[in-house]
Amino acid sequence: GWCNQAFVTLATNDKYAKGAVVLGKSLRNHKTSKKLVVLIGPHVSEPSRAVLQTLYDEVRLVDVLDSGDTAHLAMMQRPDLGVTFTKLHCWTLTHYSKCVFMDADTMAVANIDELFDREELSAAPDPGWPDCFNSGVFVFCPSNETYGKLLQYCTEHGSFDGGDQGVLNGYFSDWATSDIRKHLPFIYNMSSIAIYTYLPAFKQYGSNAKVVHFLGKTKPWSYTYDPNQRRVQGDVQEASSHPGYLLEWWSLYSSCVLPLKQ
Ligand code: UDP
Ligand code: MN
Repeated sequence: GWCNQAFVTLATNDKYAKGAVVLGKSLRNHKTSKKLVVLIGPHVSEPSRAVLQTLYDEVRLVDVLDSGDTAHLAMMQRPDLGVTFTKLHCWTLTHYSKCVFMDADTMAVANIDELFDREELSAAPDPGWPDCFNSGVFVFCPSNETYGKLLQYCTEHGSFDGGDQGVLNGYFSDWATSDIRKHLPFIYNMSSIAIYTYLPAFKQYGSNAKVVHFLGKTKPWSYTYDPNQRRVQGDVQEASSHPGYLLEWWSLYSSCVLPLKQ
């Protein structure tokens, strides 16, 4: 049923917490019937946690270093994979039967509850290497057994790209060939990169997007926003490739944060 299904995201610091605020708000605005869970690291400040509490059903502190379990051991062997281990923690949410993980730099622009019809591990192709899935949006089933195997895979093989995407593609290595239903359409993880790598396709299909992913170095929170003029400031050259989405991100962010400051 709906009550044991959840959208899950992760924020280890206040910057990514801003993204989690917008993601949570975007899912609420599109009237999701699922639970919302955010995993936070110990460095997320109290004010950020307070905003997240207003949007998420569960704000769950994940401190891999303190956890004293197998994750701690794995972490000691691979300290380079800190955020990755934290992300893998989503498999321990076993009070849910199925979840959809979404990066904190994603934003829903439509209701996406239909993703819960998919099985583990469903994800959209990575725009840079389409035989790999992009780990910014994926359907998974929490399980302590899978979690243990993932940690083991991580410590033994590491990550070919240094992050969670490398680990997950290594572990779920049959994604590309096993079952086409596990290939989510690109509209569920439309990275802004596609706008300039394949503009005609973006013009043709972009309006169908259901999730926008601000993949890459420059995140929405890297810009500054003037809420009075409703304008994004900064190097909007790059921003101009996704101007509407960036404005939408900022207007969602202000709608959550400004009322609390007054
Ligand atoms: N993340 C985090 N803190 C960090 C880096 C990453 O919480 O310092 C989480 C966050 O949910 C983020 C995800 O890990 O969305 C993946 O990182 P990012 O989105 O920056 O990678 P990209 O999608 O640009 O490859
Ligand atoms: Mn991302």
